[in-house]
Order: sequence, then C-alpha cells, then structure tokens
Amino acid sequence: MSCLNFPQMDIRPNKTKYDVIVIGGGHAGCEAASASARYGASTLLVTHKPETVGEMSCNPAIGGLAKGQLVREIDALDGIMGRAIDRAGIQFRVLNQTKGPAVRGPRAQADRRLYRLAIQGLLKEHDNLEILAGAVENLAVDGARVLTGVVLSNGTQIQSRKVVVTTGTFLGGLIHIGQTRIRAGRIHEAPALGLSLTFKRLGFRLGRLKTGTPPRLDGTTIFWKNLERQPGDNPPRPFSYLTKEITTPQIDCYITSTTKSTHDLIRANLKYSPMYSGQINSVGPRYCPSIEDKITRFADKKSHQIFLEPEGLDNTTVYPNGISTSLPERVQLDMVKTIPGLEDAKMLRPGYAIEYDFVDPRELSPSLETKRVPGLYFAGQINGTTGYEEAAAQGLVAGLNAARMSDDLGPITLDRADAYIGVMIDDLVTLGTSEPYRMFTSRAEYRLKLRSDNADQRLTPIGIKAGCVNLTRRQKFQTKMEELERGIQLSKTITATPNELSKHGLKIKKDGVRRSALDLLAYPEITVARLAKIWPELEALKPETAEQLETNGQYSGYLNRQEADIRAFRSDEALTLPADLNYEKIGGLSTEVKSKLGDAKPATLGAAARISGVTPVALTALLGHVQRLAPVDRQ
Ligand code: FAD
Repeated sequence: MSCLNFPQMDIRPNKTKYDVIVIGGGHAGCEAASASARYGASTLLVTHKPETVGEMSCNPAIGGLAKGQLVREIDALDGIMGRAIDRAGIQFRVLNQTKGPAVRGPRAQADRRLYRLAIQGLLKEHDNLEILAGAVENLAVDGARVLTGVVLSNGTQIQSRKVVVTTGTFLGGLIHIGQTRIRAGRIHEAPALGLSLTFKRLGFRLGRLKTGTPPRLDGTTIFWKNLERQPGDNPPRPFSYLTKEITTPQIDCYITSTTKSTHDLIRANLKYSPMYSGQINSVGPRYCPSIEDKITRFADKKSHQIFLEPEGLDNTTVYPNGISTSLPERVQLDMVKTIPGLEDAKMLRPGYAIEYDFVDPRELSPSLETKRVPGLYFAGQINGTTGYEEAAAQGLVAGLNAARMSDDLGPITLDRADAYIGVMIDDLVTLGTSEPYRMFTSRAEYRLKLRSDNADQRLTPIGIKAGCVNLTRRQKFQTKMEELERGIQLSKTITATPNELSKHGLKIKKDGVRRSALDLLAYPEITVARLAKIWPELEALKPETAEQLETNGQYSGYLNRQEADIRAFRSDEALTLPADLNYEKIGGLSTEVKSKLGDAKPATLGAAARISGVTPVALTALLGHVQRLAPVDRQ
C-alpha cells in the first residue's frame, strides 16, 4: 500500500493566537471560516493546499432535491455557497418544477475551476480571515480537557480556544482502485492520519464509511450527436437572494445509459471490485450507489441512466454521473466503451472508492460543539454526512457558534421547524448515523414551511440577530419584506363578492362571502396577473413580490393547520435535559433505552422521543426523573 505525503512546509501564521481556528478548506471549512469572520472573530483557516480551497471532490454540481433548500438556507444566513454557484454555474435547473414549491429543488452544474475561484474570492473579502497552508497533526488540549489550540505537522503551535474541524474524507483516508490501495484523503492528496489518533486518544467514538467517484472522460472523444440533450432552464434562476441574474455562459448536458454488455462485463469482474472481494467493509451512501452496487442490487434492471456533465467551460473533462466505481482501471476502460456515445471515449482518470474515519455525531450538541472537549466543533463529512451542501450547512453553524462562544455568547441552534439545517443537525446529534447521511425532503416533518422560496423569511432575521448577516443583505432583505408587506396589505384591502368576481370570469362558490385578493390567491389557478385584470393597482407589484404572494397564498391553509403541530413540537423542545444526566440511574427504563439515551445524551425531551425504542412510557419516566432534579430547565 502506498501513502501520499504533503511536503513539510516551514510556514507560520501572522499571529500566534486567533479567536477561532478552522481546520480544512472544503465546503464545511469555507462556510465555517466565513461565518466566523462575518461575526467579527479573528479567524484562521488552516488547510493542506490553499489552491484547493472550495474544491469539489466529486460531482461538479450544487443543489438538487432538499440539497437546493440547504443552499438557499445557507444563503439566507449570508453564507457563501449560493453566491459562489451563481458565479460558477453553467447549467441551472429547478428539479420537480411541475410539482409544488415545497418539493422543488434548485440545482446547478458548476464549472469546477470557476467555483473554486468564486469561493476563494468570497473568502478574500473578509479582512479578519487568514488562510494558512499547513497540515494540522494534533490538537493542543491540556490535562483538564481544555482546548488551547492546534499543532501543525512542522511543530508550529497556534493558539485558540475554539477550533472547528472539517477534515472531510481525509481522516484516515484510504483509496481503492481494484486491488490497489493508496493512503490519501482525495486523489493525489495526502490523508490526515495524526488527527484520527488525537480523536481516539480523546475518547471519541470513531467509525468508518466509504464513498466513491466515477472515472473522468475526455469530452472531445465522445459521440455527442447520438445522445439525448438535456438543456438547462431559460432563464437560469440564481440561488442567492443577492444575485440579480446569471451572467456565466450556459451549456447543455447529455444523457446515455448502460447496456447489457456493460452489465455482463461488470458481473464478470465483480471479484476484482474491492467491495465484493472483502477489501472494503465500510458502508457507502445508499442513495448514491456504485455501478457495481446498482447492477447487483437491481439485477432485473436492464439499463441505468448516465448523465454526461461537462466539468467546465474551458475544460473538456466530462463527469459521467451514475457510474461511480472502484473496479480496476483496465475494467473501467472496457466498461466505458460498452456505453452508447462512449465507444471511443478516452478515460482521463479512473474512478475510485475511498474509506475514511468519521466521528459518531452523537458526540455533539446541537451547536455542533463536542460534548467531550468544550470549544471543539466538528462539521461536514467528519460527522458522517455526505455532500457539499450538508457539509457547508454544518460548517456555517459550527463556525458561527465557535465565534459567538469566543465572545461568551450562547450558541445559535435551528430546530426542525426552522430549517432543513435544523432537521439534519437534530437527526445527526440525536440519532447518529451508520451510513453516509444525505438530506431528503422526506426527512422534514414541516416541509410545506421549509421551502426554498421562503428560506430568507425563515432565517435571515435569525442570522441578523446572531450577527452573521452583512449590511448589504440586511438592507436588501428589509426592502423585500417592506414590499411584501405592502403587497399583503394592498391585497387584503381589495375585496369582491362571488357575484362580482363571476362578472370577471372567476368562478367562486356562491356563498355570498366577500373575499380579499389575498384570500383568492389561495386558489391554485388564481394568480396576481389574473387578479390585476380586476384590480389594476396590483400591476404595481414587482414580479418577485407577486410570486411570493402567490406561493404564500397557496400554502396558507396548510400552514395554518401545521402551526398547531409546530407549537406542540416546540413545547417538547423547550424541555431541556441536563447534559450530564446519568441515564443508568433512572428507574423504569430498559437497559436498551438507557444505553441509547446514554449514547445520544439528547438535548431535549422532544429529541429523546425521536430515538427509536424510546417509548411514551420511557419518556414519562424520564420526565418524572428530570422534574425531581429541580429546577427543570425551561428555555
Ligand atoms: P472536504 O471537501 O473533503 O474538505 C476537507 C478539507 O480539509 C480539504 O481541504 C483538506 O485538504 C482539508 N484537511 C483535511 N485534513 C486536514 C488537516 N489535518 N490539516 C489541514 N487541512 C486538512 N458526496 C456526495 O454527495 N455524493 C457523492 O457521490 C460523493 N462522492 C464522493 C467521492 C469521493 C471520492 C470523495 C472524496 C467525496 C465524495 N463526496 C460525495 C463527498 C463530498 O465531496 C463531501 O461530502 C464534501 O466535500 C465534504 O465536505 P467537507 O468540507 O466535509 O470536506
């Protein structure tokens, strides 16, 4: 087995002490560093190679179902991912466009290089953020578990009482291509071995997961003419609330699919795939399986779609989305040639699988601070998630909280009714994960509320209060809300009876009830444009205000009903459980429930209820015990 090493660098930061240090310049690290800097903390981002800051390790795309909502939420909190993809996106599509706004998912194909440059440019805008090339080997923690800083591989010690770890797939990273194994964090990049040992020494529960990536192809050797074209939306819709329009040139993607020959070839070579030879035992992302997995698990399926996605405007590399593999390189090449359009395709780089260490996220509190070492935060793939958006969202929360705590302010936590970010963090810290966790709309109970169109209305006020939203966004948000409020007031005041409406061609139940324009927008077929034919004053509304009024109107009935559920949910969430509660001492709980609660140490009674096996009887016993430990802590 070979091992990649980073050259030893004699680098020194500008200062010896920072409010917050972030380890890792991936998607979690960039959002963490930016959030910390936006809050005003002096921040150091230490990462192996500053030129790879913002690198997309796998698919050159941002967003998608549920992931798109996460990006909008990050943006609403003034994070950088949405603005970066707006600068770098080369094909924008809203997935599920024909369905309701609650399940639509904005997605964009990225020019990989432009995305990196956009992220690096946005980070450069922070005066109080420094980026240092270096490998963190160890944490400086004194005997009493007091965090004092980080230690680089060249021995340099940098002080900080708040450290955010976002090391992605680099912790104990091991790449597999057929029988070849390489110790690496990503292709051609060294792994982080020292930190894994540090976390073990500190007693963290570590596990092992795996993920994979497809080979890359030379687009000039693909027969595009015979393939199905997949154009983007016209006009493309930006992710960020700050972006007026997309100015980067847009491209098409293409679709092909596997054939019987592809499947026969893979089956014949399964014994060389590390997952089937027993070389890899760890669990991979169930919803993003390798092509070996797809062919084995869905044996009756004759063909699997492959999306051919260009990696950039000035780059002929193509990402064949759907054939992630760790078969030997020669088999990968033969496999590619069995796919229509790829008969003569040149493979620029083989696909591979990577195994890495992750930390059981039940080690964290909802602020993403670890329970074992105060001041230490984890975010991203290290917490068992997969995906850029999931990583970025956690990074924002961890970076912001580290910065706030460096100022002795309390953490900001989002709950399941606030945001997908809240759903994800609650799932992780309460339930843990045994497979790479990715976001789905089905994970959210209140998804009619957690829409991508209203992320700013849900979260920007929280971000402003938390101190992570800059002036430009504050002003833009305020103006938008004033316009929306004017629109609401206007459409509340103009009213008509069903008889009056029928004269304008609108068929409403003849119940004699006078309805306002706002009430009428709850009818799916009624738009602001239609109502403006009756009340021309509505024409003065900006298109985005009109669209928001229509969406709010469509959901108003459902949301009113959901409010009661949210109130009940929040009353259980308000009952916090002491972090040092000894579950072994609670009478009336089974050994299994004690062990599950002890592992998760849920933050609230509501979180305890979400742990599988924790029955209503167990909850009553828990509540009784906590109430006897007066005073019960109510938020
Ligand atoms: P990363 O993006 O991995 O960034 C980690 C950063 O930390 C890097 O900049 C690294 O240099 C730095 N670093 C690590 N250790 C140290 C240290 N000790 N000192 C200093 N710097 C350090 N996601 C999907 O959703 N679907 C997929 O199919 C998929 N496939 C993938 C395939 C592969 C081969 C890989 C590598 C990743 C894949 N991912 C996939 C995952 C996706 O890339 C990650 O979820 C996302 O990048 C995680 O972001 P992160 O910020 O946590 O970590």
